[in-house]
Parts: sequence; structure tokens; C-alpha cells
Amino acid sequence: MIPYGKQSIDDDDIAAVVNTLRGDWLTQGPAVPAFEEAFAAKVGAKYAVAVNSGTAALHAIMRALKVGQGDEVIVPPITFTASANCAVFEGATPVFVDVDPETLLIDPAAVERAITPRTRAVVAVDYTGHPCDYDALREIASRHKIALVADACHSPGASYKGRPVGTLADLTAFSFHPVKHITTGEGGLVSTDNPIYAEAMRDFRTHGITKDPARFLGLKEDAPDAKPDAFFSSAIAEQGPWYYEMHSLGYNYRMPDINAALGLNQLRKLDAFVARRREIAARYQTAFESTKVVRPLGVREWANPAWHLFVVRIDFAAVGRTRTEVMQELRERGIGAQVHYIPVHLQPFYRRHFGTALGQCPVAETAYLELLSLPMYPAMSDAEVDTVINAVNEAACGK
Ligand SMILES: *Cc1c(COP(=O)(O)O)cnc(C)c1O
Repeated sequence: MIPYGKQSIDDDDIAAVVNTLRGDWLTQGPAVPAFEEAFAAKVGAKYAVAVNSGTAALHAIMRALKVGQGDEVIVPPITFTASANCAVFEGATPVFVDVDPETLLIDPAAVERAITPRTRAVVAVDYTGHPCDYDALREIASRHKIALVADACHSPGASYKGRPVGTLADLTAFSFHPVKHITTGEGGLVSTDNPIYAEAMRDFRTHGITKDPARFLGLKEDAPDAKPDAFFSSAIAEQGPWYYEMHSLGYNYRMPDINAALGLNQLRKLDAFVARRREIAARYQTAFESTKVVRPLGVREWANPAWHLFVVRIDFAAVGRTRTEVMQELRERGIGAQVHYIPVHLQPFYRRHFGTALGQCPVAETAYLELLSLPMYPAMSDAEVDTVINAVNEAACGK
């Protein structure tokens, strides 16, 4: 079976995890900060905050931005639901805007049109691993004083005009789910250059609790001039090692050390993984150049994509075969294709609670009918890529 995606775990990854299991810390030990530091250095960001999923990373970003009730967050529909859900977690409203017809990435012009006085942030999704048009998005975000967020769960190792993903937005979310470029089992991370955001996310991932005496408030936050009462005066003066303060409502979104140790070891292979994905993408592109039926998505000259997915468009109506039939035939030949993604605004949850509807994002809705994700993972051999190419051509073109 050639699956659509697969993790690459070697003996050294296993050894890194076993090493942690034999050590003193299974969670909150030295591997998490080591992983954060290495990841920040890799993408050229000042801070990295590890959490236990890409979804938690997006949620932490919304909290760092203080997005809440009454706020709007602009997001594209061709993405995993979590890109929009993160706004809903904090009581805000996702506003779905359409995508570019060639890349299926968020369309900056559509973003501009959707901005209202309530808009607080744009979540740009680097769908398939192709970076969005960050210069255009940055210009719009600065002019309207809204935050620019990158959902880079598909794009670690990608670059935009030579600048690495991880530094292109105010905050950037990554996922380390096994199907993504590098894995920690489950895991996620936010990179940012902003120390205030980084601190807010560190608090958020651990119940909103701080143990840093320099940050103890007593009652100061509520009333800056208030004299701490007897409890706070004695607690702060005593400086007991047990003392901590909860300043906000956080979650337990911590990444365990076991997972961070795996991530740290995987990170060393990111460049090699991305390089192999680029070779596979080039092989697919060359092969499908001559067919008019199997059409890979467009790649902009300013992008060096990381190729989480290799997505093609097939006009199934025109070839007279349903997508289900084509996928079934591929499956019979040992090939696992997938569809990324059902437009998020068409999900029953969003229709019911936010009144979204068909017709709202016509480019995304039309594209969705044609999408097919072909197998793409670093361990795939050239022969396997060729097997997929032949099978797809035969299944879709009947040749
Ligand atoms: C995988 C993914 C997420 C969520 O990541 P998890 O680690 O699975 O929570 C969010 N956005 C996009 C675009 C993704 O592909």
C-alpha cells in the first residue's frame, strides 16, 4: 500500500524517546526548551512555544492576540477545520474569504474586502506547503492594524522570497502530527518575535499559572494602588517555594518531554525530508505537464514550497468518472489518495452557528469538486511515484 502520507521514524528517533523514558522527566524536563530553541533557530524566530497539538498552537495564538467575543478573524475555507475553530474557541467569529484560483491560497484582495471595524486577525494558511503572499497580506494587515497569523502546519521548511516560514507573520503555528513534515506523535508550536505574545502563550499552555516571583501580582492587576491584603502580603513576602499565581484561565496544552525529544531528533532531518518532498513534487509535475486532465496546483515564482501535500485537480464531470470511482480504482491498485479539504464554511457546524452557506466562496467551492491529494512522503521511492503517476493517468484519463 502506498498511503497518501506517512511518518519517517528511524532507530535514532526511537533511541531519543527511550532515553527520555529512562531519564527523570517525562514532561516539563529539558527536552521541551531544547526543542523550542532548536526550532526557533531553524526558522529564524526569536521565540518558540511548544504545545501538544497544532490546534492548541492556533488556540494559543488567538489568546495571545486577545481575540474574543465580538471580534472577527478572517480565514480561508480550503483548510483543516482547526484554522477557523481557534477563533470560535475564544468566542470570536471566523469570516471565510475566497482563495486564489491557481494556488487555492487566501486571496489578499478578498481579505481586504472582508475587513470590518471588528476584524482582529487574518489566519493565512500555507495550504499544501506553499507560502501565502505574505508581503501583500502584511501590507493589508499593517494598514488596518490587524494581526497577521500564519497557519504553517503544512509548510515548515518552506520559504517566501528567500525568507523562511516562521518569521513571515506576527505568529506562526506548526503541527507535528505524524502526517506532517516532522512528528512528535501529537504536538504543535508557535514561533514569534514578540516576547509579550510568547509569555502569554507560555502561561496559557499551563493553566494561566506563573511561578516567576518577578511577575507575582498580589492584587495589583485589579487595582494598581491596592495594598495587598494579609494573604498576599505574607505569601509574597514569604516567597515559599510552593507559591504560584494563576493570572488567567489557561489550559493544559503542554508538550511532554517524551514528545519533544522525538521532535528534536526529527528536526535535524527536516531539510532532508523537505528536499525529498521537492524531488517527488518535481517528478509529479513533469509527468503531468503533458496531460490536460490531471492539473497540479499553481506555484508562484516567489515560493519555495515544502510540499506537505501534492494536490491535483481533475474535472471529474468532464472525464465521466466520479471522484469516488477514481479513488476506488487507485485503492484497488494499492494507492491511498485523499481529499483536502471540504470547504470549512460548508460544514454543518458553521452553517448552523454562523449562517455560512454555499455560494459564499465560489472559487473554493468549485475547486473542492476537483481536488485529489496524491501520496507524498519522504520515504516514497521514485518507482512508487511512477506507479502513482501511471495509475492516476489511467484512472482519470482511461489511458
Ligand atoms: C494538521 C493541521 C492543523 C491541526 O494540527 P493538529 O496537530 O492536528 O492539531 C491545523 N491546520 C492545518 C492547516 C493542519 O494541516
